[in-house]
Amino acid sequence: MKIVMLGAPGAGKGTCAKVLSEKYNIPHISTGDIFRANIKNGTELGKKAKTYMDQGLLVPDELVVDLVVDRLKQDDAKEGYILDGFPRTIPQAEALDAALAQINDKIDYALDIEVEDAHIIERMGGRRCCVKCGATYHLVNVPPKKEGICDVCGEALILRDDDAPETVKKRLDVYHEQTQPLITYYKEKGVLAEVEGHDEVTETMAGIYQVLG
Ligand code: AMP
Repeated sequence: MKIVMLGAPGAGKGTCAKVLSEKYNIPHISTGDIFRANIKNGTELGKKAKTYMDQGLLVPDELVVDLVVDRLKQDDAKEGYILDGFPRTIPQAEALDAALAQINDKIDYALDIEVEDAHIIERMGGRRCCVKCGATYHLVNVPPKKEGICDVCGEALILRDDDAPETVKKRLDVYHEQTQPLITYYKEKGVLAEVEGHDEVTETMAGIYQVLG
């Protein structure tokens, strides 16, 4: 099963992708996580990506596409994958489709998690992320067992620079302008499913399972 998660930043794509990844035993591939790992490891790619990410802008397509296409060729992605945060522009979607067409393959589902902007701004202010393993929490909705500490690896939790309120507003503008057109793109391909994402994760997941059957 090959799934693309769509939706604004903070809509819950990552959380749902993790649940799906465990249920179907297919990798959760998050371009945001890949960039953050590169930033942490001080790679050239990380240095380049950070300048865009800190401003709430998208990293240029040419730095993203090959990275993802290479990742999809790895063994663990043979049976499927969940793409989270990619594609984010029409050229990225077209590049993905072209790479898949070369191996007679295609995306099965594009799941659009729908949440209105005001709710996202409120949500993201409470988001906390583990500096070490990338696990995400929310002060109200998904609190860690011990305040400020990651349940998985015991590291400190932080508010990501790109989750700061003014950056969130910028990211939402970028989303509406560059990423939202993908909803029509995948609708035209006949693989779009829209899922209400305003409430609890369990309710969003129930909506997703209805689609996946
Ligand atoms: P995310 O964790 O998916 O919200 O991504 C965090 C940031 O990484 C985004 O705001 C972008 O700056 C960058 N990023 C992640 N995925 C992509 C992508 N597919 N294209 C361009 N930039 C991306």
